[in-house]
Amino acid sequence: MSPPVAPRDDLRALEGYHSPQLDVSVRLNANESPFAPPADFVDRWLEELRREPLNRYPDRDAVALRDTLGTYLGQPAARLFCANGSNEVLQTLLLTYGGPGRRAAMFEPTYALHSHIARITGTEVVVGERRADFSVDPVAARALVEEHTPTIVFVCSPNNPTGTVEPAATIEALLDATDGLVVVDEAYGEFAPWSALALVRDDWPLVVVRTYSKVWSMAALRLGFAVAPPWVVEELEKVVLPYHLASATQIAGRLALDLGAEMGDRVGLLVAERERVAAQLATVDGITCFPSGANFLLFHTAGDGHALWERMVERGVLVRDFSRWPRLDDCLRVTIGTPGENDAFLAVLRAALQEVPVP
Ligand code: PMP
Repeated sequence: MSPPVAPRDDLRALEGYHSPQLDVSVRLNANESPFAPPADFVDRWLEELRREPLNRYPDRDAVALRDTLGTYLGQPAARLFCANGSNEVLQTLLLTYGGPGRRAAMFEPTYALHSHIARITGTEVVVGERRADFSVDPVAARALVEEHTPTIVFVCSPNNPTGTVEPAATIEALLDATDGLVVVDEAYGEFAPWSALALVRDDWPLVVVRTYSKVWSMAALRLGFAVAPPWVVEELEKVVLPYHLASATQIAGRLALDLGAEMGDRVGLLVAERERVAAQLATVDGITCFPSGANFLLFHTAGDGHALWERMVERGVLVRDFSRWPRLDDCLRVTIGTPGENDAFLAVLRAALQEVPVP
């Protein structure tokens, strides 16, 4: 039976976000931090929250959060736009600079929400292919941009789900090629050897998007931000819903910045673990692992990727199944967890491969 009221015609074919949240002992599927936020941070957050006048709307301009974050990043507060996770930042960018009659360019395979949110906002999606090593080809990218004149060009670096880090020269080539915004999604930027944050200038249409969901262990609290020229931030603030960022989120985002040194240590540990797991994967027959600058690794199995994923779930290890994705046949992605979780992953992968052998 068709529903009595139909959604917008252009949304009929849209699929929701597919990433199963299964109750297993080792969850390495969503690129979260394996570590909880430190207990004294949670105590300080709850203490401040208790003093907060909860009958009043939150600070609409998130002044304290943006000031503290700006000092932390060495950026003026006027360049900061904060929202409910970087997904809301991406949505606000597309609502503001995309929409009917406009195009957004992206290089597949990449983060699914770039095209998904573009479609929801009525923005036409223009897709460029990546090279065999999953990097963006600046010459092909320029041709794509010149042909389609997108108002937004998305570059995810490190790229989810491949882990690929783009060089600064590619970002600069895109800025040179387009009259639109270049949005560098750096959700995993802290794990990479360099960041486009230092390239942000008031007279350049460059936007860098970051999140508290990974390094900062705050995925449940939903906080992300853009570093962008003030003329972009001003437009985003007009479009996003007023009072969208809860006081609880603003306080957490501000207090978390006191933990910079501890988070730096965590990044160091996860990067070392990433390299250890990659070295181990290189010794497994039939598995090819791609270089990564993020807190996850993409790997290809010469056997049936989906069957391998299922056998691993049965053994209590959940990774992300990309095996049926265009351009990612038989690929799975594992988030780097604690050393113990990573060992469990490696053991379970080896055991599951006995049942799903490589040809
Ligand atoms: N960008 C990328 C590339 C991501 O992988 C994710 C999370 N999976 C996000 C943005 C969104 O993160 P959040 O909304 O939690 O900040």
